[in-house]
This record gives sequence, C-alpha cells and structure tokens, in this order.
Amino acid sequence: MGASIQHYIKSFFLWELVKGMQVTGRHLFARKITVQYPEEKTPKSPRFRGLHALRRYPNGEERCIACKLCEAVCPALAITIESEERDDGTRRTTRYEIDLFKCIYCGFCEEACPVDSIVETDIHEFHFENRGENIITKEQLLAIGDKYENQIAAARQQDARYR
Ligand code: SF4
Ligand code: SF4
Repeated sequence: MGASIQHYIKSFFLWELVKGMQVTGRHLFARKITVQYPEEKTPKSPRFRGLHALRRYPNGEERCIACKLCEAVCPALAITIESEERDDGTRRTTRYEIDLFKCIYCGFCEEACPVDSIVETDIHEFHFENRGENIITKEQLLAIGDKYENQIAAARQQDARYR
C-alpha cells in the first residue's frame, strides 16, 4: 500500500521526468566528445594498415621482382600475380591485382616482400562506386606509391614495426 502511494506521488510530480532532465542538464554543459568527421579526425596509430601501394626505386624502376612471396603468404588469397621476363633478362609482373574485398589488412604481404615493394599506407578514406573497383590493379597501386612515396618512406623509417 505504502509503495503505491509513493508511486502515485512520484507520478503526480513527474518525478521520472525530473530525473531525466537532470541527466540531460548534466550532459548539456559537459565536454563534448563527438568528433565532427571528416573535418575533425581522431589520432591514428602509426601501425595502422590501410590501402596498399607498390613502390619504385628513386630512378623510377619498379621494385617488385615478381617473386610472388606476397601472393603465397596472403591468407585471404587476395593477391593475383602474373609475370614474364623482360628484354633485359629481369623478371617483372605483367599483372598485379589485390581484391580489397578479400583483403583483411593483415600486413603479411608487406612483411614478406624482400624488396620493400608492396606496402600498406595509412590511407583509410577510399571507396568504390562500381562493381569490380574492389580489384585494384598494378597501375593503380604504382600510382598510389608514386603519389605517397615521401610519406611511405618516412613512415617506414619511424614505424616501430620495422625497427
Ligand atoms: S594485407 Fe594480408 S590479406 Fe591483404 S593482401 Fe596483404 S597479405 Fe593479403
Ligand atoms: S611485391 Fe614483393 S613479395 Fe610481392 S611479388 Fe613483388 S617483390 Fe615479391
């Protein structure tokens, strides 16, 4: 009986509403933790693994020697490589593709690469608009490498993973 009277009084004075407004009031003036992405960004770990790139040497020659170690080590079977011998006797890829839908961004490919060719950048802002764009080609990978070479080289010097 006592409990129901208490309940009645609380209902009459809209006690639950008052309690709710207390919570609202507390958070109204508290420090905001919402990040206004994409204008604001949260810090990213130096170990973050994002979009792949194929690197070149400073003379413009592509690093990849088509050894296929990255293809062999990839646990997601995301890498496809075809190769042939060039006129100068060296071996180069004629096809190097990564299926970014299959990739789990484990970093095994870059760790396996003996010539520091395939790397994962810290780029995470990429998307696809059409079917098939998830297959990233050698030309695209080299273009990413060319564009971000300075950042890639600097990151690989600082990154604790490679010390
Ligand atoms: S990051 Fe891992 S899953 Fe992705 S391509 Fe490299 S080895 Fe394969
Ligand atoms: S990217 Fe590196 S590991 Fe992969 S085929 Fe080329 S040289 Fe070999």
